This record gives sequence, C-alpha cells and structure tokens, in this order.
Amino acid sequence: MKDTIDVLLSEDVINTRIRELAAQIDADYAGESVTLLCTLKGAVFFACELAKRITIPVFMEFIQTASYEGTQSTGTVSMKLDIPEEDVAGKHLIIIEDVIDTGRTLSVVKEMMLKRNPASLKVCSLLDKHECRVVPFEGDYVGFTIGNEFVVGYGLDVDQKYRNLPYVGVIR
Ligand code: 5GP
Ligand code: MG
Repeated sequence: MKDTIDVLLSEDVINTRIRELAAQIDADYAGESVTLLCTLKGAVFFACELAKRITIPVFMEFIQTASYEGTQSTGTVSMKLDIPEEDVAGKHLIIIEDVIDTGRTLSVVKEMMLKRNPASLKVCSLLDKHECRVVPFEGDYVGFTIGNEFVVGYGLDVDQKYRNLPYVGVIR
C-alpha cells in the first residue's frame, strides 16, 4: 500500500532557509575555508544544497554513523565510515547533520572530532527536534526546529525509503 505523506517543509521553504544558513556561514568564516563533514546518508542532500550556496572555499568530507533501526532509536552510536585524523586537524570543521533528535549521535561524533584537533568545530543541522533530547546538545546552525514527529524526505528515510522526496514530510 502506498503511504500518504503530508508536507511539513516544502522545497521552497527549505531552499530559502539554506540560503540564509549559507550567508551566515560565509559571514562567520569570511577569509577562511570550511570543511563540511557530512554525515551519510541522511544529510547528503542538505550538505550539497548548502555547499552550493556558500561562496568561501568549501571542502567536503563524509562519515557514516548508525543509531536508528526503523523508527526506534537503538541508543548506541557506531561509526560505519570514518575519515583520517589529518583531514580534521587544523581545519574549520562544520558537521552537517539531517536532524538532531536525542542528541546522542552528535555528542559522540563531536567528541570524536574534537580529539583530532580541528581549528574550530561547529554543528549545522537541517532539523532540530529540540524537545526530544536525552543528552544535552545544541546545534550552532539549525534550519528548522520541529516537534516530536518522525519525518522523511530531503535525505531522511524510513527503512531506506523516501530519501529522494524534495520536501520534508510526515507519514500520515
Ligand atoms: P540522535 O542521535 O540525535 O537521536 O539521532 C539522530 C539520527 O537519528 C539522525 O541522524 C537520523 O538519522 C535519525 N532520526 C532522528 N529523527 C528522525 C526522523 O524524524 N526521521 C528520520 N528519518 N530519521 C530520524
Ligand atoms: Mg543521520
């Protein structure tokens, strides 16, 4: 059976916000270059759209973590794909995430990256389910704060489906 998906954030609304985030990053890192550390797979659409709108030099790196099975958080965070220490050391790193939920994934990833001595480290997430935190965590750049609902699209999946939707939606 086909799912019905209600649009929560349209492609236009998302792109407008991404343009604002890119302008903010341009201003904050003026005269520098940034390394966008994209967390696969969910953040890949967001990272690409953001990168295209940043005008200072951008480098892109990719990592993959796992913390979700279906719609239930497993509570553990593991690294499926990592990058070497020399790709982090001395760089202005911005971790790009699709959604901050419990905060577990990013607390682990941030700690891990800080040990590798970046010049600076910030976190940019398209979505923030702020009320769902289990561990305290604040994003430095946040696209949209949303409520406690499971969203799909714009990179976000349910069992690998719906990543390619051009909007963020909720399965009815
Ligand atoms: P956290 O460690 O903050 O609980 O989990 C963050 C990860 O959980 C995200 O990177 C994402 O993969 C997954 N996640 C959390 N909320 C949602 C959601 O509403 N939809 C989807 N598709 N994934 C989510
Ligand atoms: Mg993710």
